[in-house]
Amino acid sequence: MKKLVLAIDGPAGAGKSTIAKLVAEKLGYVYIDTGAMYRAVAWKVLQTGQPVTDENIIQTAKDIDVRLRYESGALRVEADGTDVTESIRTPEVTGIVSQVARLLPVREKMVTLQRKMAENGGVVMDGRDIASKVLPGADVKVFLTASIEERATRRWREMKDKGYDVSMEKLKEEIAARDKMDTEREVSPLVRVPEAELLDTTGMTIDEVVAAVLALCR
Ligand code: C5P
Repeated sequence: MKKLVLAIDGPAGAGKSTIAKLVAEKLGYVYIDTGAMYRAVAWKVLQTGQPVTDENIIQTAKDIDVRLRYESGALRVEADGTDVTESIRTPEVTGIVSQVARLLPVREKMVTLQRKMAENGGVVMDGRDIASKVLPGADVKVFLTASIEERATRRWREMKDKGYDVSMEKLKEEIAARDKMDTEREVSPLVRVPEAELLDTTGMTIDEVVAAVLALCR
């Protein structure tokens, strides 16, 4: 059977990575988390200790070697040989990642890598511009969303499990600010292409969402 290419886009906290990972597992495909790649650049920028300016971000992105690898089926993220899988999820990295991702030279480098990873098919890629820019020829395009309350609640639980004590209001603000920046930026903004299937997951279980995406592959 032909190996498909799936593109899953949507705002922050919509559950893209959870769903993309499970769908990839079910299909025996590779899951590609493009947000993790922008996060790796953001992590490295903070690591350099330099001010977070466009110039420093662009230089960091130019020099960095970002890799996604799979260890016992789990996705690991590497930046210049350092495993950053966990460190790219801190509030500090989340706080600057949209600033990093809005810059053209950063995106050009990441998009080239992303397309390379998808060239043999059999991939589920999630992000903001996958259907519109990275893989416009994808076989299945999904725009995953949920209410801001639901997205903030999911993120809050996730953060709590990791030991972070964050307020729901703050999380809502952070998510809304990131969505605004991602939607309004000039280069490859977050957008739902007309042909993408809109899936509002508010009130849906993970299994239901996975089943809905798999149904689109048949
Ligand atoms: O998916 P995640 O929330 O981890 O993505 C982090 C950030 O990376 C997003 O808020 C967005 O600024 C950026 N991003 C992007 N394009 C993608 C994936 C992520 O601009 N394809």
